[in-house]
Amino acid sequence: MPAPKKKPSPPKSLRTADKLARLGLSTDMALVLHLPMRYEDETQLLTIREAGMRAGLAVQIDGVVTDCDVQYRPRRQLVVKLTDDTGLLTLRFLNFYGSQATQMAVGKRLRVRGELRHGFFGDEMVHPTVKAVEADTPLPDALTPVYPAGEGLSQAILRKAIANAMARIAWDDTLPDELRATLKLMAFEPAIRLLHHPPADVDEHALVERTHPAWIRMKFDELLAQQLSMKRAQAARRQQGAPVLGNAGALTQAFVQALPFALTGAQQRVLEEIRADLKAPYPMQRLLQGDVGSGKTIVAALAATQAIDSGYQAALMAPTEILAEQHFRKIAGWLEPLGVHVAWLTGSLKKKEKDEARARIESGQAKLVVGTHALIQQEVEFARLGLVIVDEQHRFGVAQRLTLRNKGVDSVPHQLMMSATPIPRTLAMTYFADLEVSVIDELPPGRTPVVTRLIAQERREEVTERVHAAALEGRQVYWVCPLIEESEALQLQTATETHAMLSAALPDLQVGLVHGRLKPAEKQAVMDAFTKGEIHLLVATTVIEVGVDVPNASLMVIEHAERFGLSQLHQLRGRVGRGAAASACLLMYQGPLGPVAKERLAIMRETADGFEIARRDLEIRGPGEFLGARQSGQAMLRFADLETDQWLVAQARDLAQQLLTQRPDIADAHLARWLGAKEDFLRV
Ligand code: ADP
Ligand code: MG
Repeated sequence: MPAPKKKPSPPKSLRTADKLARLGLSTDMALVLHLPMRYEDETQLLTIREAGMRAGLAVQIDGVVTDCDVQYRPRRQLVVKLTDDTGLLTLRFLNFYGSQATQMAVGKRLRVRGELRHGFFGDEMVHPTVKAVEADTPLPDALTPVYPAGEGLSQAILRKAIANAMARIAWDDTLPDELRATLKLMAFEPAIRLLHHPPADVDEHALVERTHPAWIRMKFDELLAQQLSMKRAQAARRQQGAPVLGNAGALTQAFVQALPFALTGAQQRVLEEIRADLKAPYPMQRLLQGDVGSGKTIVAALAATQAIDSGYQAALMAPTEILAEQHFRKIAGWLEPLGVHVAWLTGSLKKKEKDEARARIESGQAKLVVGTHALIQQEVEFARLGLVIVDEQHRFGVAQRLTLRNKGVDSVPHQLMMSATPIPRTLAMTYFADLEVSVIDELPPGRTPVVTRLIAQERREEVTERVHAAALEGRQVYWVCPLIEESEALQLQTATETHAMLSAALPDLQVGLVHGRLKPAEKQAVMDAFTKGEIHLLVATTVIEVGVDVPNASLMVIEHAERFGLSQLHQLRGRVGRGAAASACLLMYQGPLGPVAKERLAIMRETADGFEIARRDLEIRGPGEFLGARQSGQAMLRFADLETDQWLVAQARDLAQQLLTQRPDIADAHLARWLGAKEDFLRV
């Protein structure tokens, strides 16, 4: 048998290049812009005695090995004793190679760096970094950068690759001198050089906090690239053709007349904004924001009738089946009597039903289509899609929204996105640079504010009694089971158990259960029974979080409220307070609560304003939570922080506008430098 051929291993440099590429570092400029995440100060040496007074801090010491020994108790470890003229230090290594013992043999001089602590047997360091040195080995005169690294990429390799790249690139500044002077920005080259090799006397605090002018320049450049790219995307969108939906005609008028209520001022205003967009020959891209219960659905429906009046189809997509079905029923209830055929499409339909729905969509017989993400599946073809409406847009990925937008036949449909999750202004300004935003800032009249109470879990029996009393008064109640992030199965189990327990405790009430694992028909049956008042108490998981609208429900209990995000609690609480009855929300918590948890729940008690809640949630949790990492502008920002660098965002936005009109050459150069391969980001 022939000996198996040894596979030739690829040249080492190639493998390194692959590893770098995996980090997105395939060009010299990308390497140069790969900036340190932190720095280590190796410019200072302490004696062992001095270091002993700085326990808990990272320190660097030179010493000579007096002892190097493998010990077996309490577990196998390499123990090295180090001295200088001032004291003795013990080094411990739990996982070690034989070569390390050789490196640290008795008599060797070592430079060790780590956190010193006072141990039982004197001062010690666990797992310090160790370097063999001579008595006269000089200290570095710059802080040592530590780079974000990937698997198999050492700091040494990164440093070398970056240094090589720095020797090769063209250093021209994308921002001309006058411009930099006006904006008080540091020049590109010295900023980059300083960040990769900070001099020993650098303002270390500013470097760590990223307030140093060199960092400010990087953040500004990054934000400018982001703004330029989004404004370009916006311009590109304006080049695309869209159907002109100019006719709010007979159907729209009949619909408005049939409505049992008048639109609020805010609804009227945003509707005008949307109508103006629909008349334009390029695709609308508008986000309709409005707090829970502010009445976004009717506005969406009126946008749809304008599309239909103009001879086009509209599609409404919602993230959950419960919500989609609710929209379908409500909108079909409004429009079918006016002769509009509304189609219903979700993944759970039988094949025959699906085929029928698809046929009606394809023929154009269905003027409006409501559904879940089944709407974006390949087989669905629209005859003349003019308007796409996406409810709870943040629940969908960018790709999903794009797919639906691409269902237009020979033009791009207009797009209306809706969200009850208020997006703070700073985020809207950056991520949504290519999005118009309309806000419904007024609730329909006749709502009663929801009273929110915090109650310790131990008082569960009292709460159960209160639920009982409310039900006997004819009110309906939601009981929301705790969020268990790690496990949907566990969440389900908890809901099932809670349902059994409450059914047993309240035998004279009808107790229902709804959760994500029910078949759609079962889910619908439960929701129907609840809507009709046949169920008094509905035990639910967070499936009821979005959009569910049962006005007679006026009491909500949320268990383990401390586990929820504030925006989520706000969404949940928005399920009550929709009718005329005084409503209450009881937030049960498991004590003892830490100070942050206490503060968060207190916010829920203090305010019912979704924007205020979002603002304070942002303070506590950071912006990523609002949009999901994939969609957030934050996700592609490596250096700038949308909250703390707000002033820079504003400057970058203004300059982007100016460059695109007056100096497109600068805009091009800047984008080329900063985006490189990332050109496609944020094309939403
Ligand atoms: P959301 O903005 O949370 O999606 P909905 O569109 O579900 O809110 O509306 C909440 C409730 O308010 C619905 O029952 C809806 O019929 C009602 N509603 C909407 N607009 C008005 C209005 N102008 N006057 C009275 N009730 C309204
Ligand atoms: Mg809604």
